[in-house]
Amino acid sequence: MPDEPRIAVGGLFHETHTFAEHRTTIGDFRAQSLLAGDEIVQDAVDSRSGIAGMIAGSQALGAEILPTLYAGAMPAGVVEDHAMQTLLDDLLTRVRASLPVDGVLLALHGAMVTESSLDAETDVVHQVREIVGPDVPIVVELDMHGNISPDMVDAADVLVSYDTNPHIDAWERGYECAEILGRILKGEIIPTAASVHLPILLSPQATGTDDLPLRAVHDRARQIEQDPRVVAVSVMAGFAYADTPFTGVSLIVTTNNDPALATQFASELAQIVVDLRETALPEFVTPDQAVKDAMASPDGPVILVDSADNIGGGSPGDGTDALRAMLDNNAQRGTIILADPEAVAICWQHQHGDQLTLEVGAKADSWHGAPVEVTGTIEAFSDGVYPCELPDNHFAAFFGNTIRMGNTVWLRIEGINILLTERKVPPFDLAQLRGIGIVPEEQQMIVVKSAVAYRAAYMPIAKRVIEMDTAGLCTPNLGRFPYRNLTRPIFPLDDTVEFSTDGVA
Ligand SMILES: [Zn+2]
Repeated sequence: MPDEPRIAVGGLFHETHTFAEHRTTIGDFRAQSLLAGDEIVQDAVDSRSGIAGMIAGSQALGAEILPTLYAGAMPAGVVEDHAMQTLLDDLLTRVRASLPVDGVLLALHGAMVTESSLDAETDVVHQVREIVGPDVPIVVELDMHGNISPDMVDAADVLVSYDTNPHIDAWERGYECAEILGRILKGEIIPTAASVHLPILLSPQATGTDDLPLRAVHDRARQIEQDPRVVAVSVMAGFAYADTPFTGVSLIVTTNNDPALATQFASELAQIVVDLRETALPEFVTPDQAVKDAMASPDGPVILVDSADNIGGGSPGDGTDALRAMLDNNAQRGTIILADPEAVAICWQHQHGDQLTLEVGAKADSWHGAPVEVTGTIEAFSDGVYPCELPDNHFAAFFGNTIRMGNTVWLRIEGINILLTERKVPPFDLAQLRGIGIVPEEQQMIVVKSAVAYRAAYMPIAKRVIEMDTAGLCTPNLGRFPYRNLTRPIFPLDDTVEFSTDGVA
């Protein structure tokens, strides 16, 4: 290794929900995360991101760091070609300006889809490779929700994925990428990867690393990583909401020049997923049954979880399936929050105590049910700004300790409270309800549009929790999506699926 190896660092990060109707634009990247050149190094000082770990690891190698471009945007719809081209041109120009380089570190997601490419990140690696040449090692960090094509395994020298979900080790894995690059540059290892791609789709709800099936896979992966012949093990859960030919679970094992061993370990890990695949299946309760169960509960509140409309996962927070079920069953003391700026604007023309008829919900797209016509009475108006009850909430990094829902209206339809808000806000704090006067503890049932984020605030008061099978872009019921590109047959959508765990080196 040269005394001061020249290491180019960069990344592109997007988890693409190909069924979401709104495209991801260059404006989304600019507004959320776009760092160029030295900004990447400055930002890394107090960041726990993957690229920050790469910078720290490169510094530990005594490297000269050549920061290029890092761009990321929140999970959303397909990335516009214009956005990808703009970002890629910038990245490649900066890589070219960094030449000569001894190694490259890239922080990618693995589930980015653009208008014209179902394997956008492999394209990125290929184009970087074209600039730096065949002999310069490229080590790539991936989110464990990436859908990995065989081409990606070939294109990069080493792939290193997060080991945790929720993702708390992005920095550590980025650091590990730099360490591995250092070993390659010192001539200590010749990385050789094998992979198994399984015809298994995991809903995002089934990809927690503390839960089966992934917990068991990671337990074994940690043992395998102790083997001195092993360089890296990546357990890729895949991202079921990206419709591509290689969407699904993949296992990638990199050894030091030992393809047979890499193949053996990748196959062994794949077999664990196959054996435990049934543990990933969600239990489905219809909203109608969930509301009936909640009404029959001796006491409340029963929390009705609408994870298909998970605001934290990018859904609009205006799904109506649960509201319709409450109305159909004439539920009493039921509460739901709907983000619906149009309905708020209509209510704003009225006064406290007025009765009006209007359509609420399901306006953002066609995935979250149909608008529901209701006739109700306006109980209260608010600016929707309340201090949080929980000081160190899950979303403090985004929202601080103040909830800002925009103009908010409490509409009452017989036994049901609808809180109409201008902006969508994940249900992470009870002040969202209490602020305007709805007492959560007095409700028989409360609908939360969240997969996990509701727990800190709602579990202390919950008498029972029921997960509903509702319409929405974040549904765990993958049978609701009209896949077109997915390789079939695949579990759990198809009846006859053959599972080969043979690794490809
Ligand atoms: Zn992820």
